[in-house]
Amino acid sequence: MAKENKSPQAKGPQTSTDFCVAEGCKKSVERMHFCQEHFEWYKEGLIDKRGSRPSDFDKKHQLWLRKKTAA
Ligand SMILES: [Zn+2]
Repeated sequence: MAKENKSPQAKGPQTSTDFCVAEGCKKSVERMHFCQEHFEWYKEGLIDKRGSRPSDFDKKHQLWLRKKTAA
């Protein structure tokens, strides 16, 4: 008996992305193209709408962490 391994391919329209677009993030999308955490990053200007980090990301991230822990 030959093994049949016909798992059905994903049906329906292909959505552009189901995962957060931030670099290295595999979480599912919650808001816009981001997971909850990275949506916050986007709102704070840490990443752009494509999830790319600006050259001064480290600085912004530090400030954001400080703000977050202070809140
Ligand atoms: Zn994310």
